[in-house]
Amino acid sequence: MRHAETGFNLEIDLTRGSIERVATDPRLTELHLGGLGTNAKVLWDRVPPETDPFSPDIPLMFGTGLLCGTPAPGANRTIITAYSPQTLLMGYSLMGGFLAPELKHAGYDKVILRGKSPNLVYLWIHNDKVEIRDASHLKGKGAVETQELIRQELKEPNAQVAAIGLAGENRVYTASIEQGRSSASRLGIGAVMGDKGIKAIAVRGTKDINLARPAEFYELCNDVLKYIKFRNENPVPNVMTILQGLGSPQEMLHVDEEWHTQNFMWGNSRVRRKDFWNKEVEEKWKSVQLNVRKRLISCYNCPMKCGAIISVPGLSTYMMKCFSKLTYAMAAFVEDLDFGFRIAQRATEYGVDGFSTPQIMAFAFELKEAGILTDADFEGCPSDNEGKFYWLLDRIVRREGIGDVLADGTYWAAQKIGKGAEAYAHNNIKKHEQLPLKLGMLNPVYFLMYSTGEKINITQIEGQFPQAPFATMEEREEFVRDWIQVPDEKFKQIVLDWEPRGERSNPNYPTVDMSVDIVDWQEKMHYIDDTLGVCAGLSSFPLKPPYHIHNYPRFVSAATGIDMDEAGLTQVYNRNRTLIRAINVRRGLRRADEKPPEDHWKKRFPELESKLLDAYYKFKGWNSEGIPTKETLHELGMDDVAKDLEQRGIIKDGQG
Ligand code: SF4
Repeated sequence: MRHAETGFNLEIDLTRGSIERVATDPRLTELHLGGLGTNAKVLWDRVPPETDPFSPDIPLMFGTGLLCGTPAPGANRTIITAYSPQTLLMGYSLMGGFLAPELKHAGYDKVILRGKSPNLVYLWIHNDKVEIRDASHLKGKGAVETQELIRQELKEPNAQVAAIGLAGENRVYTASIEQGRSSASRLGIGAVMGDKGIKAIAVRGTKDINLARPAEFYELCNDVLKYIKFRNENPVPNVMTILQGLGSPQEMLHVDEEWHTQNFMWGNSRVRRKDFWNKEVEEKWKSVQLNVRKRLISCYNCPMKCGAIISVPGLSTYMMKCFSKLTYAMAAFVEDLDFGFRIAQRATEYGVDGFSTPQIMAFAFELKEAGILTDADFEGCPSDNEGKFYWLLDRIVRREGIGDVLADGTYWAAQKIGKGAEAYAHNNIKKHEQLPLKLGMLNPVYFLMYSTGEKINITQIEGQFPQAPFATMEEREEFVRDWIQVPDEKFKQIVLDWEPRGERSNPNYPTVDMSVDIVDWQEKMHYIDDTLGVCAGLSSFPLKPPYHIHNYPRFVSAATGIDMDEAGLTQVYNRNRTLIRAINVRRGLRRADEKPPEDHWKKRFPELESKLLDAYYKFKGWNSEGIPTKETLHELGMDDVAKDLEQRGIIKDGQG
């Protein structure tokens, strides 16, 4: 009997229309656990590196995390992977909601889709009964609308449905996959789904999931719930409001947007408006938000309620969470929050990433102002800021005119447009748009996380270590006092010694070695979350979360029966981290690609940045180009990976 996992994947060939239920190898669970780890293993084993992201040979995988469907609070992530059409590297995007637990209860750990359907179809998974069904009547339908239509058609109000909108059907590189209370938005994963001719996946599962030691597991879950309650009643003091609690930033709860509107950039990530927020704006925005917010909602088995049902008069309802209430309004320089909620409704039905898409539009209008794009490119475009953004969103999603060029994101659009447009695609990492945030002094920890992260998602590289030093020693002592999550006491001393100014401040403190240690810890937690399917909002993202490196091994052991300790879990993390790095170096990733946007910080330190990268690579057992060495791969039990990299001439004499 398998525990925590079902032991079966669903393998579907869309070209041939074949469906197979395939037993998986339990040894892979011991090596990679599940979710992101086993998705990466399938991608490495099956897909040659030269494969195009839109090739039928690319498997689009919906992987559940190892703990999904168990009573572990917040274990609800679906990890969706393919090659990203935007970065051309491995693309992985996560969504919460309900899909992964439902899939587990239906009896599957992953759905692996390969080939391409000649017609638009959707998948209906109802326990052992799996069908590929015609979706031609859903063509062009919204991503949220489609979910409801499918539930009605199936007469299954409890089916969980993940769907793409028009953007995915048209292979827009920022296309998302939407699923009721969540979405997988980054890295063009919705474009790959559309390319495969899959409009939606609907799931209903009613089977049990086995736990190796249920009583022990329930006790651990209760401890987590108790801690969540404690943290909610005792927010972390002396840090910004959005860092005080758990979950993803509680943007649907909070109405005070002084910090975001004055510190994040407006337009094409260029303009800071330090005096934007005032009493009048606060009152107006608060009233708009409270009017459209119908109720706060959670993902499966989580008390945090990070999202909200939004209902704007005259428009269908949708779910929103996090920062997307501001991204369109700020990119368009519209000072009315109502616009943000209205355009986000259309964007959610289209199924596009709310971080990249507004930036792409602001980038286009900047190119027009600079004379690089012309009036002919914008024929018929209204002149007001709101109208302009609606007009361009429609064209991008339909790939009409200039919208067709912009639909590939700022990097690829700039390459096509030429005439100096490249300089305007200034906020990218690895060809992908980033948060519109520009800061003063280089932060060594964030420099490394931005540069080397494979998730290409700034919001999800943040972690359990504070983003900035505390002003006073009293505040520092208070912070470290109940810091049970630290993997090592040395991190407490770094916080105690870290000053806002002077010798022990950024960029020289934390020192290079300390920065590498901190980054490794943050990354470790993210990789573990993404293999177990636990929401980062309860583990790797907030400052003092209920899940951490000391209790995670006990969760894994009690759920699976695998004898796991901190060292073992760290080894799994290192293996998964290195495997994803190997996939990407095989796709051509090198040191030159590992850099934040040039203008992310005003004050840059090339020599220090170079030392940081050197030290990080050395710590990981990679060479100076960021390529894992033969020795490192051997230690992680990945000789097959080393052999492949050697055969391709990427590793020579044991080195890259
Ligand atoms: S913390 Fe928030 S985003 Fe995470 S699972 Fe809970 S409700 Fe969902």
